[in-house]
Amino acid sequence: MPRRTKIVATLGPATDTPAVIDAIIAAGVDVVRLNLSHDTHEHHRERVRLVRERARATGQEIAILLDLQGPKIRIGRFMNGAITLTNGGPFAIDAACPLMDGDWTRVGTTYPELAADVRPGDILLLDDGAIELRADAVINGRIDCTVVVGGKLSNNKGINKKGGGLSAPALTEKDKKDIQLAAELQTDYLAISFVRSAADVELARELLRVAGCRGGIVAKIERAEALNAVDEIIKASDVIMVARGDLGVEISDAKLPAVQKHLIHRARDLNRVVITATQMMQSMIDNPIPTRAEVFDVANAVLDGTDAVMLSAESAVGRFPAQVVEALDRICSEAERHVTRSGHRIDSVFGRVDEAIAMASMYTANHLEVKAIAALTETGSTVKWMSRISSGIPIYAMARDAETRRKARVYRGVYPVSFDVASEDVNTLNMELIEELKRLGAVLDGDLVIITKGDRSGVEGQTNIMKIMRVGEHKLLVQD
Ligand code: PGA
Ligand code: MN
Repeated sequence: MPRRTKIVATLGPATDTPAVIDAIIAAGVDVVRLNLSHDTHEHHRERVRLVRERARATGQEIAILLDLQGPKIRIGRFMNGAITLTNGGPFAIDAACPLMDGDWTRVGTTYPELAADVRPGDILLLDDGAIELRADAVINGRIDCTVVVGGKLSNNKGINKKGGGLSAPALTEKDKKDIQLAAELQTDYLAISFVRSAADVELARELLRVAGCRGGIVAKIERAEALNAVDEIIKASDVIMVARGDLGVEISDAKLPAVQKHLIHRARDLNRVVITATQMMQSMIDNPIPTRAEVFDVANAVLDGTDAVMLSAESAVGRFPAQVVEALDRICSEAERHVTRSGHRIDSVFGRVDEAIAMASMYTANHLEVKAIAALTETGSTVKWMSRISSGIPIYAMARDAETRRKARVYRGVYPVSFDVASEDVNTLNMELIEELKRLGAVLDGDLVIITKGDRSGVEGQTNIMKIMRVGEHKLLVQD
């Protein structure tokens, strides 16, 4: 049984050779992520070129996700590279301090308006929460603080405000330039960082379309205020990412598990896709095997119903990029053996005929125990609806469009297959679909399969047929 949960791996210096790309593809990567917080456009172009070349060489279709930096607010640099803050001591973040000139009393910031969002008593978290400052006074763009948790602080570390409430818009000028790169490279997905509202997502989609790219939009949930508009953000997106790194800093790490479960559940309920991200295999940056806690974290995300799990530094700069993909593959596959039959949308009304066919197929598949589902699809909507229902039955997305196939690679339990309708005759088409499943090793004679398709194939939104067939008998209907 092929693995259902999908693997997203971030590319970086550790994956910049053909041999490593081949190894992570062989280990089962489905989607690669380009992190625009690092490196130049030239680096990212080269990475896309290399992945596409190796994917072609190995006969795989790998989806590409370009992840915008967004308004990550950072401190400036220190004249000495780093300082050490002592608990209880004073320190200031000062818009008037030149970006290169930080010292042990103050440092500059990449977001000069920061002080306008800070009130005395607010807690600022630096370096993913490693350093904690309490604001005492805000005077002319300078935030005077007391160090609550000190330690070493080096150049360009991120700043978050506990509880959220930093007003920076989700798309920066750099992001807008990076959207042009997404269009140039025709990436399959574009991820938007620090989304606050559905309007942020809609604006990004609009800019991407104007730039000439049809990629899907991934909304990264990593701001406290995004949690107040979760449903609207999910509906405006194709995919959401549970971005546990920044989100954990804003809402506190202890709140993350419940929030992760809620986000996965809402995404699936609203027919959207969800990626769980950050520190899933953190210790494998330096070690060839994960900790037990990491094994449980990944398995729990699978049990929560995530479509995909994501690697960041583990693959981009870690010592074991192929092994970490192998570890995810093994943990996800094993966790998936514990699937429960779904009660998903059992009480809801379906809005469309194709949606009803998708739901009926999954209900039937789960209860009749068919071997596989072959869905003839133009845009992938049918298979996306199907994959919102938990099931152990593989869903083959039979699609002639390569873009559709790559997008569908992130959907849990969906396996895209290149397939074009060659015959107008329905029986011949059914036979060809089943023969393709046999070639893939998905079914044997005697197995039951479900086929979904439309009376008019090649037109989107037309799925209106669900057919149950037994492999082996499928040829009898075809006349020579
Ligand atoms: P990042 O987003 O890796 O771009 O920061 C993910 C996260 O914050 O978890
Ligand atoms: Mn983030």
